[in-house]
Amino acid sequence: MALRNPCIVVVGAGVAGLSAAKKLKEYGFNDVTVLEASEKVGGRVASTTLGNACVDTGAQYIHGASEKNPVYCLLKKSGLLNQVPDMGTEAFYSNKGHKVDANFAKRAYEDGEAIIQHRGFNTGKSLGEHYAEKTQGVIDSLQDKDEKTRMQSVFALVGKDMLIDVGASDLHRVSLDSWQYYINMGDSLNVAGLMFQLVDILLKDFPKDCLLLKREVSQIKWDGTFSAAPSPTAHTEAASEEKVRQYPVCIVCENGEEILADHVIVTISLGCLKAQASSLFIPSLPTEKMEVIDKLCFGNIAKIFLEYEEAFWENEVGTISLIYEDDTAASVSTNKMQWIKNLQYFSVLRPKERFGNILVGWCPGDIADLIETMTDDELSTAVTDHLKMFFGHSNIPQPKSILSTKWRSNKFVKGTYTFLPVGVDGQVMDTLAQPLVGSRCPGEDLQVLFAGEATMKTLYGTVQGALLSGHREADRLAAHYKKTADPTSTTSLDKQV
Ligand SMILES: Cc1cc2nc3c(=O)[nH]c(=O)nc-3n(C[C@H](O)[C@H](O)[C@H](O)COP(=O)(O)OP(=O)(O)OC[C@H]3O[C@@H](n4cnc5c(N)ncnc54)[C@H](O)[C@@H]3O)c2cc1C
Repeated sequence: MALRNPCIVVVGAGVAGLSAAKKLKEYGFNDVTVLEASEKVGGRVASTTLGNACVDTGAQYIHGASEKNPVYCLLKKSGLLNQVPDMGTEAFYSNKGHKVDANFAKRAYEDGEAIIQHRGFNTGKSLGEHYAEKTQGVIDSLQDKDEKTRMQSVFALVGKDMLIDVGASDLHRVSLDSWQYYINMGDSLNVAGLMFQLVDILLKDFPKDCLLLKREVSQIKWDGTFSAAPSPTAHTEAASEEKVRQYPVCIVCENGEEILADHVIVTISLGCLKAQASSLFIPSLPTEKMEVIDKLCFGNIAKIFLEYEEAFWENEVGTISLIYEDDTAASVSTNKMQWIKNLQYFSVLRPKERFGNILVGWCPGDIADLIETMTDDELSTAVTDHLKMFFGHSNIPQPKSILSTKWRSNKFVKGTYTFLPVGVDGQVMDTLAQPLVGSRCPGEDLQVLFAGEATMKTLYGTVQGALLSGHREADRLAAHYKKTADPTSTTSLDKQV
């Protein structure tokens, strides 16, 4: 069965698709084609220009900045990590229009983080329930009424920031057991302005003619017998053999193009699978896979880039957090009527010499969905009034330019990253990752394979998760063809995931 030169198609040129294609090439597969729907590669590792700077509209943190992380290793090897600036200081402001004591806020924030970063194991509880209960315990142990209120408000800030990390609207919807299989590779490192360059690293040495842009795949017909049309110049014996070559998979593009393959690796996001899985695959996906696609959640966040003529924050500041003094941890969920209350976190793009004066505001879940429907003027005015209230003075200018991400409306992504709702075990991601085999040689005939962050219970929602999922599927095909040579790029972590 193992064909000598199988034809492999990868759907999607995000990090998962590119890393799968790159590793397949390293294994010696030489008939690999990547089909990408949009006009550029990288998927959720993306950038745009604002002023004179190139900013990351997608991922910008290495979650786990250590040698265990292949993304960290790739960026380090390319010398990019030498450009990472210091993080800057943290500033906290109150809705009463004054600065909050940073020492107190940082201490309280760390206490809140220690509670919220709890890794539940088969508890069946929500993160919201856990957080409300444990923070209440801390509050109850305090004597001073003012201190109770101040702690509550910082705990609420921690909860709101967590909504951004998850991409959700309500911590009560998020499973406390979300990270029970997670591989923690270390602290996070902000690589703003550098992450998007990972795409160039993955593309290096990859033959450009194997990457087809603006090829939206609309159907994946599998478990079939599709014949390539005989070549009009087929005279030789080899060519006549080629005449009879049949393929089990036929990939149909929106433009009508059909590409035949022995194997297809599908790397489209969970958001796209939710929208399209029922029509994309012919025959349909097995029921258990469809159920998983339905059960998993695909969140959203908005990054709002605000470019100013002059900085109104202090030079050394790296992050600005806005605290509502009457917020409580028990009520961490969004409210579209008061959407601006979920614009509590801003990061400063540093260094100033590279970026100028740019703040990035972050919003989670349905607030991000709402922001996608707003005009730049509406957003600019609302954000400016908001900042004036917290900074306590009216001379905060409107930004000279504003740009907000629109990941939910992006037809080829439909959100930002996967999260686990209460009652769903991360193991369902293994079901999503299971390849589909043809009915003629069940157990042998790998036809449709799946990669992408949502297929990685150990690292979902991350760039390294996407990258390693691509490696996993390349390894699966290599094992299938008994290719034992280990590609040079294989990292030790590939073995663990
Ligand atoms: C705003 C934002 C911030 C993030 N922050 C971080 C962070 O700081 N750190 C971190 O580690 N991770 C972060 N992530 C998550 C990380 O970016 C993703 O986990 C990872 O990039 C996903 O890669 P992927 O290859 O699985 O999917 P994608 O990047 O979604 O790639 C899928 C590709 O398939 C293409 N496609 C879709 N449909 C079709 C079709 N029908 N035919 C052909 N092609 C198709 C898409 O255009 C896309 O290029 C962030 C994501 C976002 C959006």
